[in-house]
Amino acid sequence: MAKFIFVTGGVVSGIGKGISAASIGRLLKDRGLSVFMQKFDPYINIDPGTMSPYQHGEVFVTKDGAETDLDLGHYERFIDEELTKRASITTGKVYSKVIEKERRGDYEGHTVQVIPHITDEIKNSVYKAAKESGADIVITEIGGTVGDIESLPFLEAIRQIHAENKKEDVLFVHTVLVPQIPGSDELKTKPTQHSFKELMSNGIKTNVIIVRSDGEITDSIKKKISLFCDVPVEAIVQSENVDLIYEVPLVFHQNGLDQYILRKLDLTKQPESNGDWGKMVERFKKSDKDVNIALVGKYVALHDAYLSVNQALLDAGWDMGANVHIKWINSEDITEENAEEFFKNVDGIIVPGGFGSRGLEGMMIASKYARDKKIPYFGICLGMQIALIEIARNALGFRDAHTTEVDAGTPYPIIDLMDSQKNLENLGGTMRLGNYPCVTEEGTKARQLYKEEKILERHRHRYEFNNKYKGEMRRAGVVFSGINEDLDLVEIIELKDHPYYVACQFHPEFKSRPNNPHPLFKGFVKASLENKKNK
Ligand code: GLN
Repeated sequence: MAKFIFVTGGVVSGIGKGISAASIGRLLKDRGLSVFMQKFDPYINIDPGTMSPYQHGEVFVTKDGAETDLDLGHYERFIDEELTKRASITTGKVYSKVIEKERRGDYEGHTVQVIPHITDEIKNSVYKAAKESGADIVITEIGGTVGDIESLPFLEAIRQIHAENKKEDVLFVHTVLVPQIPGSDELKTKPTQHSFKELMSNGIKTNVIIVRSDGEITDSIKKKISLFCDVPVEAIVQSENVDLIYEVPLVFHQNGLDQYILRKLDLTKQPESNGDWGKMVERFKKSDKDVNIALVGKYVALHDAYLSVNQALLDAGWDMGANVHIKWINSEDITEENAEEFFKNVDGIIVPGGFGSRGLEGMMIASKYARDKKIPYFGICLGMQIALIEIARNALGFRDAHTTEVDAGTPYPIIDLMDSQKNLENLGGTMRLGNYPCVTEEGTKARQLYKEEKILERHRHRYEFNNKYKGEMRRAGVVFSGINEDLDLVEIIELKDHPYYVACQFHPEFKSRPNNPHPLFKGFVKASLENKKNK
C-alpha cells in the first residue's frame, strides 16, 4: 500500500511549489523508497497541449504521450523516473470522464454532483496512480493557490483521502511566502496565518510548512508560525534561495525535513541517503569553464516555454564542468544583415521546437549561419525541419522549399503532413506523441553519442521529413543517422564535414536528467566548448 503526500500552495503562486514537491520526492527516493509524482491542474482544458506557450510555458510530454504541465519535467529530473499520463490530472479530464460516464448511464439515475462524483473521480486518479506505479509514496501537487474557487473539489478530494486512510499514511505539505516589508527587515507571517486558516476551512490541517522568503526565517519567526498554525517548529522549513535548483533537496535535508516526514509516515527504518545527489551538486558548483549558446526561437520572451531545453543544456554543461550561458534570441529579429552581430560571440546555436509560421525565416538564417561558419548546431523538432528546408533552398537551389504547415502549395514540400495526420478534426491530443523507437545508423555521430542501436525518444509534432527528397538531401551532405524503421520516418539527421550539425525530430530534452544528461545535448555542448577553444 502506498502512502500519500499532498502539496498545496498558499499566499501566492510562483514560489517553487513544484520544485519543493520534486525535492521531497528526491529525498524520499534517496531514503530507499520508490516514488510516483502527479500534478492536479485546476484549469478546464483537458491538457495544456492546446494552450499558447505564453500562457503556460513548455508542454512536457510523458513517455506514454500525455501533454502535461512543465512541473512534470521537474519531477522527472529530480526523481529520475519516467512518469505516465496518471501524473497529470486536470479539471477538464475529470469532468469529461464524469460526463462520459453520465452519458453511458453509469450513474443509474442518480443526480451527478461535484461531491461525490467529481471528488470520487479525483480520488480514483490518486489511487490508480498508486496502484499502477506500485510506488511506496505518491506525491501529489495541487496546482494554484488555496482559496481559488477552481481548486475546491481537489482539496475536498484530498481531505477525503486523509479521512479514509490511516493517519500515518497521509501527509500534507503547505508552501507559503513570508514577505518582507519594503524598506525594512521586517518579515510578515500574517499571510501564512490566513492561508493556514483557509486550508483549515477546507478541512485540511497541514503537517509541514515550507517557507519562501527573502529574509531569514529565524527560530522566533518559526515559533510564531508554529503557534498560529499548529505545526511543530521542526516541521517548518525555509526553502532558501539557492544558486542551483538541485540544491533544494539538500537544503530540506539539512533542515531535517526527510527525517520528519519519514517519522510522520511511520517509516522509521529507511536507510540514510548515499549522498550521490549532494556530490553531484558539489561537482556542478565547481564548474569553472564557460560556454555561450544562442537559443533561437519565437517564444523566448518567456524562458519557461523552453524549460526542459534550458535545463538539459545547463545539465550537460555542468556534467563537463562548464556553465552554459544562454543567449535568448527572438528569431523574428534575425536578418541576413544582422546575423553576424547576433552570433559572432556564441559557441553553439540551438533551435528548439515550435509551431506556425512566425519567426521561421530567422531560424533558417540561424541554421544557415551555423552550417556555413561551422558552428555547432542542434535542431530539435521544428529545429530539424527548418534546417532541412534551409539546406533544400540554399544548398540544392530548391526555391520556395517549405513545410506544408506554413505553405501548403510549396513546389518542394520538404516537410509534410504524415498520412495519419490528414483529416483529423480535433487539435488537442492528436499529434504524434510520446515514445517511438529509432535505430541509429552505424558510423554516425548519433550512434557514437548514444552508443546504442535502438533508442526510444518522445515526440510531439504533426509534420515529418518527406522521404521523396532523401536522395537529393544526401547529395547535399545530409546523413540520415536515425530512422524509425516501422513507420519509415527520419528521426535524426546530421551533416558530413561539420564539427557538429545534428538535428532530431523528437524531443530529447524530456529525457535528460541532471544525473544523466542526454547524449545529444552532451555532444552539442562538448562541440561548442571545443569551438570556443579553437577560436
Ligand atoms: N510544427 C512542427 C510540427 O508540428 C514542429 C513541432 C515541434 O517543434 N514540436 O511538426
